[in-house]
Amino acid sequence: RNEKTLDQEKVDTKMPPQPTIFIPVDRSAEIQEARLKLPVLAEEQVIMEAVRENPCVVICGETGSGKTTQVPQFLYEAGYASGSGIIGITEPRRVAAVSMSHRVAKEMNLSTRVVSYQIRYEGNVTSDTKIKFMTDGVLLKEVQKDFLLQRYSVIIIDEAHERSVYTDILIGLLSRIVPLRNKKGLPMKLLVMSATLRVEDFTDNAKLFRTPPPVTKVDARQFPVTIHFNKRTPMEDYTGDAFQKICKIHRMLPPGGILVFLTGQAEVHNLCRKLRNAFPFRKGNTTTGEDEEGETSEAMRKFKKAKRKKAVSLPRIDLDNYSALPLDEGDEDREAGIGYEDEDGSDLEFGDDPAGAEEKADPSIPLYVLPLYSLLAPEQQAKVFRPPPPGTRLCVVATNVAETSLTIPAIKYVVDCGRVKKRFYDRVTGVSSFKVMWTSQASANQRAGRAGRTEPGHCYRLYSSAVFGDFTLFSEAEITRRPVEDLVLQMKDLNIDKVVNFPFPTSPSAEALVAAEQLLVSLGALKEPPRTGSVKEMERARLSCPISPLGRAMASFPVAPRYAKMLALGKQQDCLPYVIAVVAAMTVREIFEDLDRPDRSEDESSKLTQRRARLIQMRRLWAGQGAPLLLGDLMVMLGAVGACEFAGCTPMFCEENGLRYKAMVEIRKLRGQLTNAVNAVCPEVGVFVNPKMTPPTEHQVVCLRQIVLAGLGDHLARRVQAEDLLDPKWKNGYKTPLLDDPVFIHPSSALFKTLPEFIVYQEIMESTKMYMRGVSAVEAEWIPELLPQYCHSGSPLESPSPWFCSSTGTIRCHRPSTFFRVGWPLPAVEM
Ligand code: ADP
Ligand code: MG
Repeated sequence: RNEKTLDQEKVDTKMPPQPTIFIPVDRSAEIQEARLKLPVLAEEQVIMEAVRENPCVVICGETGSGKTTQVPQFLYEAGYASGSGIIGITEPRRVAAVSMSHRVAKEMNLSTRVVSYQIRYEGNVTSDTKIKFMTDGVLLKEVQKDFLLQRYSVIIIDEAHERSVYTDILIGLLSRIVPLRNKKGLPMKLLVMSATLRVEDFTDNAKLFRTPPPVTKVDARQFPVTIHFNKRTPMEDYTGDAFQKICKIHRMLPPGGILVFLTGQAEVHNLCRKLRNAFPFRKGNTTTGEDEEGETSEAMRKFKKAKRKKAVSLPRIDLDNYSALPLDEGDEDREAGIGYEDEDGSDLEFGDDPAGAEEKADPSIPLYVLPLYSLLAPEQQAKVFRPPPPGTRLCVVATNVAETSLTIPAIKYVVDCGRVKKRFYDRVTGVSSFKVMWTSQASANQRAGRAGRTEPGHCYRLYSSAVFGDFTLFSEAEITRRPVEDLVLQMKDLNIDKVVNFPFPTSPSAEALVAAEQLLVSLGALKEPPRTGSVKEMERARLSCPISPLGRAMASFPVAPRYAKMLALGKQQDCLPYVIAVVAAMTVREIFEDLDRPDRSEDESSKLTQRRARLIQMRRLWAGQGAPLLLGDLMVMLGAVGACEFAGCTPMFCEENGLRYKAMVEIRKLRGQLTNAVNAVCPEVGVFVNPKMTPPTEHQVVCLRQIVLAGLGDHLARRVQAEDLLDPKWKNGYKTPLLDDPVFIHPSSALFKTLPEFIVYQEIMESTKMYMRGVSAVEAEWIPELLPQYCHSGSPLESPSPWFCSSTGTIRCHRPSTFFRVGWPLPAVEM
């Protein structure tokens, strides 16, 4: 059904104008006055005319110009929510969906029953709702239920410049839904709003719109912002840098709010804590510290307590020292090594004791410190919009939600760490993880712009201008820098079978789509394409395989399809809790403390620091635990998770055992989430994840290895055979279907010395050699049974598959690199 709709004609941009209605809104004088100052108000006529005359309209305007809060009101007043349809607005971030709905309700003097929000796990939508803010993911799920989105008369896609995958897909879908609706006499409008002018991907895109939709520009006042770069090469400890910079600004520069950009929630909390300790409120003053520890776990508190007891002899830092620093750039060297570095709370120098800190700090001008990040409770978020208590200076410590999603009033100083935490998809493994990386020039400039909303401002960049010069100009559309098998699976779940024909604003590469489809078929998530018909027909069928029931279940697990497959198989032999733990650990990736702090000069790695040596020792010990069990590195992960949970998952335990505490906490959260997901798909399974798992039996380990093989089947490798060893480069090497060169088991692997004949790996990382990580051994006889799709019997020369089962039952890997070229595997072998 949907497939057909997608092939239908493209948007016709001209429509007859519609009658003008006016629905009065009763706003307070104060609100009315504030609104009139917003640049978007000057464009109301232009925007509404464009909307009346066109099914799709693009609106560009600087952050803070009033797009998000005002445009839904324009539409409401013009009667777009007065019939049966409502106004829907999507945001890529939850924080924006929630806070904007509250704000608009307040501005319009309407209850949250009328102006509501819906995010993944919560919402306040009622039958009276007329304006609905939601995350883009929520609307995508709604498309699944009702392709025509009949509840809505208007959809506004906000923050389109962020180019989040869901936003991109929604624009693609809506470019088809809107004309369909209009054809059926159920008129619908689409508004795309962006904070940058770079909208050609939406407008000049013949795949999306036949005639480019009109673009309305909103001119915003912007005061000049002076940019200050750091002189030196940036330190890794940008939280510490930020702290020092704020201290200096607060002590030495004229009044005006400070906005700090960091990358994640933990960093935000950490910096807030330090700042509050450095510039505390006196008793009787406004209480701002109450929301501070929202996040800190019981374990962390105990850890700190224990550490504090131990650490009495630690030197205390003299906080007044900061005021003695000159305010020019490049002075940070002085503070090098002060050691605020441990993001997870071992900032012992300040302790948790405000009294102690008060002695040292000069609290004459209190700093009103507020955190701001996506998952912060709405009441806490709302605080950043209120004026700070009299006589204080506002300091908002934010993640990049403050970049364009939310506008904080009266910011004069911006401190920018230059980094962003991004979802990173490993092209080799498809594993999703979050990584901190440099942001783009466009983002850095957006951040700087936050300082010039109300008066001229300053932006302090915690990196040098040379580094800035190396930033990419714009952040790429998320969709181009990741494998797409999970996305393809989601779209198939929407019954969009021909993903190649989908009107993406920016298309993933054809190879990426083909590879995704092939992988999904081999995992059983898509139905196999027919093997009859002409070559062309088969070719076409191969790129439009419908989803299978297994695929539907897999689509509901929040992990990449290979791992989803493992979960789907996990019930056997009561393995599910172990599968969940292993999948969680693999998704979080590095569970061990980082051996090599990114140290640019790679050659010096021969000099092992003490820390490094100790960590390597710890890794060996962990690997030794599972040595006889060929689950290999995955057993090591499972062992680490198990042991850590038995010890109560404390920071102390992790530190002593070379594990990354943050990773372990994340794994715990993910285990809970995956357990819920499995239970939701299959209530009768009724898994309950006991944090304290008992170790798996030997039977279960074998079963686990097989489940892992079934999920990572395309990551199979075989040790080179004697005949290949003529070339010394193959010594200890493995052959894989995709590569012509040998790959090796990583030295940190538990199986580094064992060198099993057949293994599956989680990923290949290229450094001095091509190394496989996350290695697990498999038995040869499992392969034809569990991966029939990759096997073939007959002459190796005719086989399209790299794995060849001869009639004697031996399996060879031959002709590397034929696999993807030749295409689809043949039916199961008979042994
Ligand atoms: P845009 O979407 O163009 O970036 P917004 O509509 O989000 O702009 O914001 C317009 C103005 O409304 C900004 O000046 C912002 O400070 C103000 N604003 C937004 N939310 C709130 C709130 N909850 N409380 C007070 N002011 C707010
Ligand atoms: Mg906005």
